[in-house]
Amino acid sequence: MFPEELEAWLAEQGVPTRPEHCRRAVAQVVALGRDTLTPTKRPMPKAMVAAINEGLTWQRLTVVERVEDPADGFTKYLFESPDGALTEAVRIPLAKPDTFTVCLSSQVGCAMGCVFCATGRLGLSRNLEAWEMLSAFLTVRDEAPGRVTGAVFQGQGEPFHNYDEVVRAARMLAHPNGGRIGAKNITISTVGLVPAIRRYTREGHPFRLILSLTSSLPERRERLLPVAGKFGMDDVIDAIREHAASSKFALQTIAWVVMGGVNHDQAEVDTLKELLGDLPARINLIDINDSRDDGFRRADEREINELMDALQVLKRPVVRRYSGGQGRDAGCGMLASARLAQPD
Ligand code: SF4
Repeated sequence: MFPEELEAWLAEQGVPTRPEHCRRAVAQVVALGRDTLTPTKRPMPKAMVAAINEGLTWQRLTVVERVEDPADGFTKYLFESPDGALTEAVRIPLAKPDTFTVCLSSQVGCAMGCVFCATGRLGLSRNLEAWEMLSAFLTVRDEAPGRVTGAVFQGQGEPFHNYDEVVRAARMLAHPNGGRIGAKNITISTVGLVPAIRRYTREGHPFRLILSLTSSLPERRERLLPVAGKFGMDDVIDAIREHAASSKFALQTIAWVVMGGVNHDQAEVDTLKELLGDLPARINLIDINDSRDDGFRRADEREINELMDALQVLKRPVVRRYSGGQGRDAGCGMLASARLAQPD
């Protein structure tokens, strides 16, 4: 609940309160991560605390597993929801020492069916609710050996396929009584659900957007990301262009999951150049997970370097994003799928 929702709920219970008390109560649970409303120097009315304790519950997801990759410090969490659903989050060390960001899942499984993705093969079980995403964040944050300064919805699931709950979770992460994360450090990634991108632009949310393009060639993209068949490539880029026109970010981010021998040829670069036109953008290259049984492989250094050289023609920043945690099954979707593959 946001403070104003708590205030409305208390009013329904006939409990008088003031906005600052509600802000304080939310801050205790979310900003400070407490599991009880504890007495503070600035007290809250006893009747309000009693009503909250009796009438509301707040809980954390159960941590089933934590797996740290000592090679790079990525720590993957596997959480269990009350209904037994498994979901993942990853604590990612940032370049600045002792600071981290958290990669969050938005769904249990995913309906998008990207052929190179372990989560895509699980199919969609259900959407995560905002509280579940927030709970995963709070646990990772509270256990971090440093400061968590960002969050990215790029774990299991397509965030815009669960639009309302993801945006609600992001708003709570950015709230001064909530996660206290700067909105510009919260990122939502999408494979390109055009109506949702347009809605997001209309609503004017302050969070960063990543378009996971991965191929600029329509047929290839549709083969790799079947959902791409629903939207024309030009529509996807137009939606991002509209977003760029109203967003505060100087550059839009285009993510490219590089698969060895698949999507790093000159035709990709030429078509991407045409597609982007004058769109201010940066390109993030992301390595695909290495240990795979689906016929895809990680691009080797020569392939990546050739692609990076070829992309210079775009005259835009090209960044190779480290895809960590793979030594310990801590890459995207790997922990949940490894566990689901185990017999009971
Ligand atoms: S890559 Fe993302 S959108 Fe595609 S199937 Fe995997 S989790 Fe879903």
